[in-house]
Order: sequence, then C-alpha cells, then structure tokens
Amino acid sequence: MRRELAAIGSYPAARFCPETGRIRSGLLTDASRSTSRALLRRGLVVIDPAGGSVRLSLRARLAMIADEHRTETTVPTGYLEDAAGARRSDKRGRLMYDRSSFALCACGWRGAGADREEARSAARRHRVEFVTAVLREQFGTGA
Ligand SMILES: [Zn+2]
Repeated sequence: MRRELAAIGSYPAARFCPETGRIRSGLLTDASRSTSRALLRRGLVVIDPAGGSVRLSLRARLAMIADEHRTETTVPTGYLEDAAGARRSDKRGRLMYDRSSFALCACGWRGAGADREEARSAARRHRVEFVTAVLREQFGTGA
C-alpha cells in the first residue's frame, strides 16, 4: 500500500475508475481493487467527486512525512581517551570532554549540535519544515 500511496502522491493524473473499482496511480498496473478500497476506507486518499481525480489526504501526507523523516541523535563521546583508554587532558591539564551530538534522519539529512539537546532541536526543526510545507499547501500561507 505504501508503494501505491507514494505513486498517487507523485502522479497528478491519479484517478478512480468506477468501472473497475481501482485507482490509476501512475504505476504500470492500477492499484488492486482491495488496495484501492482500503486506501479509501482508511481516509488515505480523497476522490474529487466532480472529475474522479484522486489525491492523498492530509492524514496520509502527514503519515508519510512521519515515516520518511524518522530522526535520532547520536550519543556524545564524553571523555576523550587515548589509544590505551586513558582519559586525555588538554594543555592546562583539564580532562577533555565532548558533548557534541549529531542528528540523523531516515531521508539522509544530517545535523549537528553542540550537545544532544541542540541536536534534538535541529531534528525537530527538520521535521517541522516538512509538516509546515504540507499544512501551508493545504490551508494557505496564513497557516
Ligand atoms: Zn528527513
């Protein structure tokens, strides 16, 4: 069903064919009758009653963003150690500690933070960017 959803989302001419009960999704074969029915029943696609064109619902688009942009942050290194495992000190004799963390997204995006909270914030901003774009498209630029 994911494959069909992605296809419908990127195929502006997607439409519902009442004779076959299938959605033309732009893939080589139409979505099966049962998949088409499931997409409609779950509210993942919406049919324009006038022309029969099919588009993804807001619910489906938000779910796809959540799926495509799963993020995580890396554990900071902490105390830096030399090859023998002893903690390293700087020139002044202070122990060297690394709090930095990276934010990683399933889409391939990478962000960095001076600490883990900063990396989490970067990941949040990354996800919000996509959600905001979808909401703007759905409800206009005032949203
Ligand atoms: Zn992402």
